[in-house]
Amino acid sequence: MSQPIDNEKTFAILTDTTRCTGCETCVDACKQTYGLGPDRAWRWKNRIDDLSSTRFTTIIRRPGGHFVRHQCRHCADPACVSACIVGALRKTELGPVIYDSDRCMGCRYCMMACPYGIPRYSWENRVPLVRKCVLCYSRIESGGQPACTAACPYQATIFGTRAAMLAEAQRRFAENPGRYFPSAAPKVYGETEVGGVAVLYIADISLDFLGWGDKLGDEPLPALTWAALSKVPPMVFGVAGTMAGIYWVIGRRMKLQAEAAADGADPAEEHAHG
Ligand code: SF4
Ligand code: SF4
Ligand code: SF4
Repeated sequence: MSQPIDNEKTFAILTDTTRCTGCETCVDACKQTYGLGPDRAWRWKNRIDDLSSTRFTTIIRRPGGHFVRHQCRHCADPACVSACIVGALRKTELGPVIYDSDRCMGCRYCMMACPYGIPRYSWENRVPLVRKCVLCYSRIESGGQPACTAACPYQATIFGTRAAMLAEAQRRFAENPGRYFPSAAPKVYGETEVGGVAVLYIADISLDFLGWGDKLGDEPLPALTWAALSKVPPMVFGVAGTMAGIYWVIGRRMKLQAEAAADGADPAEEHAHG
């Protein structure tokens, strides 16, 4: 069972899609902060609307003029961290899930484990890296806020303690009756799903398309992964070597974590990029 989130001591982003104009100032601020460079053109699309190694955040355009910012959710109990056998991903005490390229061995299990399909791979590099939003860990560690939230001209994406963001969501609901989805009882997406996340959303449309459907539930995914996999005999996977591989690496990761906890050591002492 994972620990409950300390909403006063951890940080979060609240994205309010009703205020977003799709201007992409947040995307540009992120690109500039992390030196991500220009997007590679996609022949079949006029606008780039997906995450990539050059986009840690992006704006998804929905019918009816709705704009939805997309990025890593910084799960309280992240499946990507559980899946990484070498501790290249780590959940920090402030909330961000960060990545250490020096440890990454390129297996990409984190990409398969993430329920929101977030991590990307920089295939263009000679030594490819996993690339994703790091919630501007180094900036918030020194008392600042993420580059993207600082840049938004419309308070469509804001930053603060998780408690303050949850309170602000309720304040906006009360101030605008009937505006938010679902109108009978507006929802803060991410408050409880997969054990709670640090990137919360409020919206005037359903955000199920973004991976927020009921399918995932409120249980942290690493626990479910274990419950499911431990009940399935490996031969059931047959020739699905990939699944057997996942079973093995996640098991090893759990063992290493348990050993480290018993030793009182931190198995993932590293630096955050950015
Ligand atoms: S959204 Fe995906 S990549 Fe981000 S912390 Fe959760 S599991 Fe990891
Ligand atoms: S929190 Fe930082 S890394 Fe994440 S999208 Fe915003 S600017 Fe980029
Ligand atoms: S800067 Fe604000 S309004 Fe512009 S796209 Fe980003 S979240 Fe939306």
